[in-house]
Amino acid sequence: MLQHDVELKKIDLHTNKVIKRDFYKDRVVEVCPICGSSWYIKYGFYNGIQRYKCKVCEKTFSHTTNSLWSYSKKNTRTWLEFTELMTENKTLKFCAEKLHISIGTAFYWRHKILQALSIDSTPDSLSGVVHVGKVILKENFKGCRNAEIIASATPREDLWVIGAKGQEDSMFIKPIFKHQWDKIAFNEKVYSKIEKKSYIAPYGDSYIKSIARRHNRNKSIKVETEYRIKYLWPNLKKWLSIFHGVASKYLKRYLSFFIIMNLDKVIDYMDLIYDRLFEGNRFIKIAEIRIMNSPF
Ligand SMILES: [Zn+2]
Repeated sequence: MLQHDVELKKIDLHTNKVIKRDFYKDRVVEVCPICGSSWYIKYGFYNGIQRYKCKVCEKTFSHTTNSLWSYSKKNTRTWLEFTELMTENKTLKFCAEKLHISIGTAFYWRHKILQALSIDSTPDSLSGVVHVGKVILKENFKGCRNAEIIASATPREDLWVIGAKGQEDSMFIKPIFKHQWDKIAFNEKVYSKIEKKSYIAPYGDSYIKSIARRHNRNKSIKVETEYRIKYLWPNLKKWLSIFHGVASKYLKRYLSFFIIMNLDKVIDYMDLIYDRLFEGNRFIKIAEIRIMNSPF
């Protein structure tokens, strides 16, 4: 007798296995992830995934060991759906309810993904017409264990977030300094990335305008408005509001995600997972999710 799989549970289980196998098939194991030794042997298959056994520490491992999802008890499919919802800017509450996961898990997953994305989203240099603008955000101590103490002892300062876009399909949006205009920090962290022969198009800030005038040697050419920089402030505000305020210590990660969502390249969530999250051997460990308190 054939048993009907009314809730398609088996199909889900198989899909999960196939997706997982496919994700990891190109991933190369170079050393034992436990002890770092390169002396290991093939050690059979588990769910279609090649396993290895280390000859030094005698532990077994596979391509999926230490990967983004290896510690997650939830299935790969739920991860995929979560990433998709994240690219649709859904709230944590919405994701948690839809995927039957806790808010805590959703928060942790979001940070795992943000962490993976934030590694290399910034261009090394900006060339051509370089559009530069700024947004001032108030410091946010959300999630800090002693948020109230910090807030009462020190007033929330202004965080200067500088946005820049050159001819490349990449963007630069980063918190650069606190409190007031800091030319040294600007030069070091932003201006140094702008190529000498490029033309700077400034947006709405007198400091940036004066830097542009000097850089452009008072020449003025007609440039097409770059709306992603011109409307950086309203766009970023609107986008951050989805997350109900972002702690300053996590701001850089959220900005990386914002950048990816704002590039010309159309990235669907599958590409995002394949290209960004699985590029190289990106081992994201729980300890790395907790980062330093400085937003810079
Ligand atoms: Zn080992």
